[in-house]
Amino acid sequence: MRLSLLTTSFLAAPVLLAGCAHNASLPAAPVEAAPVTEPDPAPQPEKPKPVYGSYGFDTAGMDPAIKPGDDFYNYANGAWAKNTPIPADKSNYGSFNILDDNAKKQTHAILDAAKGDPNSKIGTAYATYLDTAAIDGKGLAPAKPWLDQIKALTAKAGYPALAAAARRNGVGVPFATYVGQDDKEPEVYALSLYQAGLGMPDRDYYLSKDAKFVETKTAYLKHLTNVLTLAGEPNATARAQAIVDFETKIAGVQWTRVESRDATKTYNKMTVAQLQKSAPGFDFKAFFAAGKTPVENVIVGQPSAVAGIARLIQQAPLAVLKDQLLVRTLDNFADVLPSAFDKEQFAFYGTTLSGTPEQEVRWKRAVDFTTGALADDVSQVYVAKYFPPETKAAADQLVKNVIAAMDRRIDKLEWMAPETKVKAHEKLAAFKPKIGYPDHWQDYAALTITPGDAFGNNVRANNWQYDDNVSKLGQPIRRWEWGMTPMTINAYANFGMVEIVFPAAILQPPFFDPNADPAVNYGGIGAVIGHELSHHFDDQGAKYDKEGRLTDWWTPADVKAFKARTDALVAQYDQYEPLPGMHVKGALTLGENVADLAGLTVAHDAYKASLNGQASPVLDGTTGDQRFYQGWAQVWRRNYREANLRQRLLTDPHSPSQQRAWVVRNLDPWYGAYNPDPATKLFLTPDKRVRIW
Ligand SMILES: [Zn+2]
Repeated sequence: MRLSLLTTSFLAAPVLLAGCAHNASLPAAPVEAAPVTEPDPAPQPEKPKPVYGSYGFDTAGMDPAIKPGDDFYNYANGAWAKNTPIPADKSNYGSFNILDDNAKKQTHAILDAAKGDPNSKIGTAYATYLDTAAIDGKGLAPAKPWLDQIKALTAKAGYPALAAAARRNGVGVPFATYVGQDDKEPEVYALSLYQAGLGMPDRDYYLSKDAKFVETKTAYLKHLTNVLTLAGEPNATARAQAIVDFETKIAGVQWTRVESRDATKTYNKMTVAQLQKSAPGFDFKAFFAAGKTPVENVIVGQPSAVAGIARLIQQAPLAVLKDQLLVRTLDNFADVLPSAFDKEQFAFYGTTLSGTPEQEVRWKRAVDFTTGALADDVSQVYVAKYFPPETKAAADQLVKNVIAAMDRRIDKLEWMAPETKVKAHEKLAAFKPKIGYPDHWQDYAALTITPGDAFGNNVRANNWQYDDNVSKLGQPIRRWEWGMTPMTINAYANFGMVEIVFPAAILQPPFFDPNADPAVNYGGIGAVIGHELSHHFDDQGAKYDKEGRLTDWWTPADVKAFKARTDALVAQYDQYEPLPGMHVKGALTLGENVADLAGLTVAHDAYKASLNGQASPVLDGTTGDQRFYQGWAQVWRRNYREANLRQRLLTDPHSPSQQRAWVVRNLDPWYGAYNPDPATKLFLTPDKRVRIW
């Protein structure tokens, strides 16, 4: 499954699932309250006020000393950025987190009410996770049967089956598998196989000679040593070093993220026999069979990396393979093991990798755990309580307006052949928006949640998710399925489903406020809708046709003209240097930058169309177009800790928020709205502005 998200909210997870992101969760702060209205001497029915400012934008957060043409992000957000500290339990903080904190508080109230009810699965899962005294009291005993299973392995021939069991338990192994739509046969589910096997977020953390990354690698070695020591294992230092050496070799054969985001290069369907032959050293047939996926064909994401990792497994001593499973288990389940493991895990993954000084309080983590394990059970209560039907109706209309704007824009394109335009219109007509929450919920009857067994609950929840995923093989496509909960502050595009998805919780201020001026809403949620829509026409999404099939439906001349434009966008973003010596990777972030550029373009068209030929009013001295771009800048408010930003620059397909806000420099109406001086930093002459859709 290829999902393109609006934002990456959570990083530095010890297990990185290639090609798929579920349950994006954000770490916390006070929610903006609606401004108190002055008592009116003669009370009259009054239009409700927006949450932010007088028309939906927080003007107090601007820095008027900065010229919009020099730095549009800080012009709109500079005072906010200066005056808003990052809470101690977060690696970054902005509009997404403010809403996430709010959703988490609401979910907290739901779970707190459920936790006294012994018949409530969500209540039991939540209460059990909260009870750290009980978790501490048990020591490593709950994990012992699984740890013993790892230790009992004496022959390498048994490793593929053990790795499959680890994967089902939610423990990262050198290969990732996933059942999703076959890109070239979207009516059928298929098994995909990807490179994996790293305990740090990216191959560069192992391979880079940059001092910061060398330092982090040393901290990783120390971390693994500490984990083994805490578990009472002898020779911890030497064994940790062997794991780091093994993973460094894996990093050396892995594809880069830029290579891995290419939908064409990563589609390599073959028989398992062909895979065995091309990647000797690891018994994939046994691995798939033990993982309940006894397939004949598999789609291999990165063939040379998979072959390289198979070879490295063959060369590695069995003890190193077992130790890797051991440390990965202790890290992945650290939150349901004694607190010494939890603290050690956070010190590396939270503080070293992301710069976060303090761990979140337990109830927030318990909300995350329960929402992850029993997502739909929690979601059903959440939407019934917190999602007004009027919001869905308003969002439906906005989505229609933005799709209509994209439709008109396709007609105007100078670089696309007429026959391709016909197909592009057909693809647009095939779009299925999902708004708010699913119309069908998962059933967790097969998942046992036991009071007092936090570790077991976690393992069984992972087993349930794995089993549910692999059970799709041979079954009809689940068109009803969502890749995010309604509480998630995010949105996504799914190429195979030809769908765009907007969870309930993002349909709130500052993204969408029914009481805000429409220009602000079009610059906020309108541009988010445009962004997701445009993903289906970005450098990868455009390869999928109206049925979600990966195929060539463009003429060669279209492809060439499109590439010339996207190359210019890559070059533009490559210039940005958010940290000294570290640039934005234009090729890694291309899909997101195309989606921002096109999304903001069509949202502006939709805003103009919504005015029905009338002039937009001037509010507080601000024009409609100015408010539109303010709305865009406001949703990207975000402060980062340095380590988090460094990690994002390597791993995140999204550009940092400041650079996302700067995409306006390519848009003619922005020049009309702010009239920037040609000497300002963002100013581009019309021939240098990138225009794609
Ligand atoms: Zn996106």
